[in-house]
Amino acid sequence: MATLGNPTNTIAILQKYQFNFQKKYGQNFLIDANILEKIIDAAGVCETDCVLEIGPGIGTMTQYLCEHAREVVAVEIDRKLIPILEQDTLSAYDNVTIINEDILKLDVNAIVQDKNNGKPIKVVANLPYYITTPIIMGLFESHVPLDSITIMVQKEVAERMQVGPGTKDYGALSLAVQYYAKPEVMLTVPASCFMPRPNIDSAVIKLIRHDKPPVVVPDEKLLFDIIRASFNQRRKTLVNALANATGIRLEKESVLRALEKMGLSFTIRGEALTLEEFAALTQYIYGER
Ligand code: SAM
Repeated sequence: MATLGNPTNTIAILQKYQFNFQKKYGQNFLIDANILEKIIDAAGVCETDCVLEIGPGIGTMTQYLCEHAREVVAVEIDRKLIPILEQDTLSAYDNVTIINEDILKLDVNAIVQDKNNGKPIKVVANLPYYITTPIIMGLFESHVPLDSITIMVQKEVAERMQVGPGTKDYGALSLAVQYYAKPEVMLTVPASCFMPRPNIDSAVIKLIRHDKPPVVVPDEKLLFDIIRASFNQRRKTLVNALANATGIRLEKESVLRALEKMGLSFTIRGEALTLEEFAALTQYIYGER
């Protein structure tokens, strides 16, 4: 079994299996052992942990996870990678389960039940960037028992998760992440640490799940419907964005009354509201329904 995390062994495996990178799956494999050590450290993986890895690729980070965790579940969409993982790079480990599936179609709750008796798991991944947001939102919104999510994402996306109102990067993702977790950027990773080299820099961000959300709302779905609608039409005032939103059926007058009670301007935009203000708005609108 080759130890991955360096260019020589990565190229050897790719050639042995005549593997061609699939752009559509966001395949950029890590080739830097130092960065891999730092990710495992940042995630705080220890021998009692059950870890879910999304997109193991040829198994580079999976090898590190298998060395440190009790149990690893690795979900990979590309069936061409499965023989490499099963017969080669992960064949020495008996604490890994490889699942050939699209993470967005998988019942992760059932996996947590099966592999960790429903107790919180850690998610560690070098994510395919084209589906970063749906993966994170899917894990949170389906209430998967989670301790933390430590993921490599595009540097800009990591920044977007951390910011508050008044910045151009503030949006639905910032609010959703901060509702469910405390985000912390752990390290930045240059493009030279991947094969093939992406056009962007990356960052590892750790999302530590809150025990309880920082705000209380009567209906979580309504909160996120309102947030999404507010940012869908970013240039519109909040009132117009919500009144035009399909799917949530809000009366303009109801939004105006809520803003008046909250002491906010009728011309305010969604991007100026804090999570606390979105929660208060949800409370008023829920009360009027
Ligand atoms: N973990 C490896 C590493 O660090 O070298 C590979 C990371 S690569 C950025 C992303 C991986 O996710 C690829 O192996 C890709 O095939 C896989 N992937 C892409 N979309 C996926 C999906 N919907 N479900 C599961 N895996 C996916």
